[in-house]
Amino acid sequence: MSDRLSPPRCRFCGAALTTTFVDLGKTPLANSYLDKIEDAANERRYPLHARVCAECFLVQVDDVETPEAIFSDYAYFSSFAASWVEHAGRYAEATTARFRLGSQSLVVEIASNDGYLLQHFQAAGIPVLGVEPAANVAQAAIAKGVPTEVAFFGRATAEALAARGFRADLMAANNVLAHVPDIRDFVAGFALLLKSDGVATFEFPHLLNLIRETQFDTIYHEHFSYLSLVAVEAIFAATGLRAFDVEEIPTHGGSLRLYACREEAMHGETERLMALRMKEHEAGLESLAAYRGFAPRVEAVKRSFHAFLAKARAEGKTVTAYGAAAKGNTFLNVCGVTRRDIAFVFDRSTAKQGKLLPGSHIPILAPERIGEIKPDYLVVLPWNLIDEIKTDMAAIAQWGGRFVVAVPETRVLP
Ligand SMILES: [Zn+2]
Repeated sequence: MSDRLSPPRCRFCGAALTTTFVDLGKTPLANSYLDKIEDAANERRYPLHARVCAECFLVQVDDVETPEAIFSDYAYFSSFAASWVEHAGRYAEATTARFRLGSQSLVVEIASNDGYLLQHFQAAGIPVLGVEPAANVAQAAIAKGVPTEVAFFGRATAEALAARGFRADLMAANNVLAHVPDIRDFVAGFALLLKSDGVATFEFPHLLNLIRETQFDTIYHEHFSYLSLVAVEAIFAATGLRAFDVEEIPTHGGSLRLYACREEAMHGETERLMALRMKEHEAGLESLAAYRGFAPRVEAVKRSFHAFLAKARAEGKTVTAYGAAAKGNTFLNVCGVTRRDIAFVFDRSTAKQGKLLPGSHIPILAPERIGEIKPDYLVVLPWNLIDEIKTDMAAIAQWGGRFVVAVPETRVLP
């Protein structure tokens, strides 16, 4: 915890953080589901305030909890989203071909979850090692036969693994870079564990899309950093890595897959990396003005959703939601939504069914129960999975139910 009388410090470069990106007020931790309504009396709320560093342009939220408290019983298992498992399969095929991986190689995934990615490499006969901080999730991977170390990654873990003879040809870090509190120590571990010409790929939601699409619901306490190429390249330069290629991919509302290697490695820089640097430059990501315009647009999104709820209430319509995940929890809590506004939320995760969402206290039901409730509206909170969810929940058309998305503005889908 930093001293609240002075501004917090940048988690990468240490500069004082004096510029607000958006202040979302106080909300519970987005993944702290309640077992019963009585638990609401003890629910804690924490400031959710995103700031931008004027020195390195890293957008970040303050620490509120130790990472152990957040991740030790993490409820998210990657394999629950079918589209994400397919995405992992395509990644494994593409990297295996491009970097000529085989039975002599080693693929290491950081935050390997239940082995959803490494299983694809393993099936192709390529040795793998997962590193996963949540013990219960790591156990699920080990039970599937995916070797997994229960550890937080950083310099110390990388040095310990290297001392045991592990050296990686490919390291994958998908949707984890934004979740690490000490981003400098985390990235430094990659240069220590990679072979001299090894490749590390980092996938993270691109800040440029967050800004352009007003994706404020992707901001939550467990998501410490909101990353641009300009900020990540500064971190690489300080930790012995350099980027050599990048892809823009559609996951999580628009992500980057950044390819990095050790500073002295042979990989040549691609034109699409240079093009993306220029795109960020033209969008103004190296000046504070681009960041200051964000908060007023968040207010407009909230007004648009409140207007939708008021109209539905006036017309006596039933509103429900789909997707008990962090993104939805930020959205509902920042908008001040309660179960008077949204009766139920449906989610495929059996671990969450029967619980209540943090803050809004909306009960979570199995998707099969929707036929009993026959809601007029189903607000799809994970808007990035709208196509998959529209297919899954197509039955709502039987009673005239409509899908709704609320970011970047509220729209009832045709
Ligand atoms: Zn900084």
